[in-house]
Amino acid sequence: MNKLLIWDIDGTLLTCKNAGKYSLNKTFQEEFGIENAFEGIEMAGKMDLNILSSIINKNNVANYNLNDLIYKYGKNLEKHLKMSKNFKILPNVKKNLHNLQKDNRIYNVIASGNSEIGSILKLKKAEMFDYFRIGSYGNNFDNRTCLVRNAINIAKFAYGIDFINENIYMIGDTPDDIIAGKENNIKTIALATGGYSLEILESNEPDFLFDELPEDLISIIF
Ligand SMILES: [Mg+2]
Repeated sequence: MNKLLIWDIDGTLLTCKNAGKYSLNKTFQEEFGIENAFEGIEMAGKMDLNILSSIINKNNVANYNLNDLIYKYGKNLEKHLKMSKNFKILPNVKKNLHNLQKDNRIYNVIASGNSEIGSILKLKKAEMFDYFRIGSYGNNFDNRTCLVRNAINIAKFAYGIDFINENIYMIGDTPDDIIAGKENNIKTIALATGGYSLEILESNEPDFLFDELPEDLISIIF
C-alpha cells in the first residue's frame, strides 16, 4: 500500500523565526525604500504570492517584476540564514525522514506557502533538501487548497503511482494546512510545533493531532 506524505515546511519541518519577514523587509527597503513593509503581517499558513501582492498593493508599488523580487528576497534570505541563530530543525524530523526514505511504500512531496527559492534555501540549510525530489510552492498559487492539489497531482506523475486519497496525508502546523487537506479529501496530521496550540488545531478536526512529530511516523500511518 503506497502512501504519499505532503509536508509543509515552516513550523512543521523546521523553524527560522522571522527569517522570511526580515528578508522581505530588507528586500522592500532596498528595492522601494519602504521600511518594515511586512510588520504586523501574519505569514504562517499563507502563500508568498498573497503576502507579496498584498504589500505591493498596499504600498502602491508600480514597476516591479515578481520573479526578480523573489530572487532578491532569496539573496537576502540566503545571507540571513547563514548567520541566523534562530534556525532549528523540529523534534523527530530528521529521524523520521531518514526512516521514511528507506521505506519503499512511502513517498514525499513538499506543499509550502514559501516561494520555491525560499523552500530550497531553508531545506538546504536544514540538510533536508535531498529528501524531497518534488514540491508545490507558494509563489505559484494564491490558494492553499490548489497548492496541495498540485502537490498530489505532480507526485502521481513523478512517482508513477495513482495514490488514493485515504493514503495521502497533509502534515502541517496551521489550521490552513488542515483545511487544505480536508478540501482535497485527504488525511490530515496536525503538529503543534509552529505556534498554533493543540486546542486551536483540534477545533479544525485533523485526523491526527500531536504536540510534535511522533518518533515513529510510519507506525502511525500503517
Ligand atoms: Mg507552516
